Amino acid sequence: MFKILNHLLTYPTIPNFAKGSFEKLYVQSDKVMILLLILQWALSTFVTSIAYDTYFYGFFSGAIIVLPIIFLYPYLKGDKFFRYFIAMAMMLFSVVFIQQYLGRIEMHFHIFIVMAILTFYKDAVVLVIAAATTLLHHIVFNYLQLYEVSLFDMPVMVFNYGCGFDIVVLHAIFVIIELLVLAYFVKLQIEHFVDLNGAKDEVSSLNENLEHTSLHDNLTGLPNRRFLNQETSFIISNAQKNDKKFATVFLDLDHFKNINDTLGHDVGDALLQTIGIIIKNNVAKNDIVARIGGDEFILILSDFSNTYEIIPIIENLLQELKKEIFIKGYTLRVSASLGISIYPDDATEIKSLMKYADMAMYKTKAEGRDNYNFFTQTHNAKIHTEVEMVNDMQRAFYDNEFKLYYQAKVDVKTQKIIGAEALIRWDHHKKGLISPIHFIPLAENTGFILNIGKLVITESTQAIKRFNDLGFNDLTISINVSTRQFQNSNLYGDLQEAIQESKINPKQLAIEITESIMMRHIDSALIMLKKLKELGVSIYLDDFGTGYSSLSYLKKFPINTLKIDKSFVDDIQDDEKKNDSLLVNTILAMGKSLGIKVIAEGVENKTQFEFLKSRDCDTIQGYYFSKPIPEKEFIALLAKGV
Ligand code: C2E
Ligand code: CA
Ligand code: CA
Repeated sequence: MFKILNHLLTYPTIPNFAKGSFEKLYVQSDKVMILLLILQWALSTFVTSIAYDTYFYGFFSGAIIVLPIIFLYPYLKGDKFFRYFIAMAMMLFSVVFIQQYLGRIEMHFHIFIVMAILTFYKDAVVLVIAAATTLLHHIVFNYLQLYEVSLFDMPVMVFNYGCGFDIVVLHAIFVIIELLVLAYFVKLQIEHFVDLNGAKDEVSSLNENLEHTSLHDNLTGLPNRRFLNQETSFIISNAQKNDKKFATVFLDLDHFKNINDTLGHDVGDALLQTIGIIIKNNVAKNDIVARIGGDEFILILSDFSNTYEIIPIIENLLQELKKEIFIKGYTLRVSASLGISIYPDDATEIKSLMKYADMAMYKTKAEGRDNYNFFTQTHNAKIHTEVEMVNDMQRAFYDNEFKLYYQAKVDVKTQKIIGAEALIRWDHHKKGLISPIHFIPLAENTGFILNIGKLVITESTQAIKRFNDLGFNDLTISINVSTRQFQNSNLYGDLQEAIQESKINPKQLAIEITESIMMRHIDSALIMLKKLKELGVSIYLDDFGTGYSSLSYLKKFPINTLKIDKSFVDDIQDDEKKNDSLLVNTILAMGKSLGIKVIAEGVENKTQFEFLKSRDCDTIQGYYFSKPIPEKEFIALLAKGV
């Protein structure tokens, strides 16, 4: 029983976050109640007076109840006492109605309806006041009647039916039960209301969170690109107002991919976080440091009047970034390449500023990294033509403008063609033949080389098939593989597929790689080369002597053939004596001792050819014998049977 009572009588306290909406509800309810009071006033004046002619009574007593409430509204609206008054006022209309001979039953309905209406406030006290009012007036009226009190010589209960004590008690029981039921109803409503408010609150805090995450990078907590876009109009208008400049700095870590690849993403992630902190610590508090992807950051350094003012900041930042960083047991050294554009000197729109800073950063990369460059317009023009070229390259690819040329490789002893190197040419519909040295570096930078690489694989294997079909079935054709292709494409799968499709002997295919490809990721390169070897293709080390591979690596890697770089062949002179100290000698001797074949490239004259022959070089390739030529001409050359 006590438990039930306790349950009925304990009300939730309204939490702070819901208080505002409760206050709104109180004011709203005040308004509704005033309208209802006016309605009751009209009822008491007109409707209930029709039968009994009690217009004046209804009007005046209604006025006594309603007017003070209306008068107090501007001062007390929303206040708890105001709603207590209203509760009393609503109840007192029962008194007015019963005096107009409406009878007990109707009057009781009125009490019940009014109490129900008052639950609108979601305030149990209001109900208690209402109940107390009705009980009190019964007691008072009972007294007045019992003792026949009269006012101004008139009995007070002029119109009343008369009311016995038993009726008062019965009435009290009804009202108390109603009170309990309605108060419980109010309690449930409050709880529900508080819940709803809580949910609303939660949603809005979730929204705030969402807004934060959508504007920040979740690894480093730094602002992201979207944030930059939002913030920049503000930065620009600030700079404009104060007649100041600001710098957009594009910062890209050098060789970050290596760290990710070799030490794992955990280390990479931790490194990025640390880098974020280092950058933040080395710029002014108000400057913005954003991470816009992978290892790319954008800094907005503001509030300076002369561009040279930011140079010390940039140089200091480069130094700080170069210091050793300790992460998860590793000691790491990184550096960064920076590009800078200046508002308003270079551009006044953030998009252009970012683009220019990015271009300047690329220039830094191209010049050897770990440095910075300011954007200049000339460099814009260069990039422009590069952009055009990249677009043109894409078009050319679908227009089949890329073709393979073949440069014969000749056996020194027999002077027979034993194979060829496939070299790509761009047969431009307007510009004519374009040399690979003009487009391969750009293709490599933009990743377009992957398309070219794949094309070379399918084209060369099919050409081998055609050579075979013509009876030249013991040629080995070598193709050049770029760094990016070696690292980022499915080289093994592409080769395997092409070999299967063209039904050639894999021994007829060779790939040429440079020392730098081999030395960059030694372990993964070794695994890859071993797999390719198993596939049956040969591996040539191109431009040998210009890189930095050591003897021990040559032994370790499954290399079939070394290609002596043209620059060493160029050193061969007519004067036989001077040729004694040539590096070519060393390379040839080295090849012999390791059991690796040697091809000399760029052989242009008889002297060079004779010299190489005298030193037992296996194969030569060069203009002396043939330039790179189209397939048809190459077949003609084969047919000549040289
Ligand atoms: P590379 O692999 O060192 O190719 C040899 C280059 O030397 C070729 O230039 C060839 O035409 C040239 N050459 C051969 N013999 C002589 C000679 O006796 N005298 C002179 N002066 N030059 C000679 P090319 O065809 O212009 O190719 C340049 C570079 O472009 C190649 O150097 C190679 O690194 C790259 N490349 C060519 N084709 C491809 C390809 O299909 N894929 C990739 N990734 N790179 C390619
Ligand atoms: Ca080559
Ligand atoms: Ca070469």
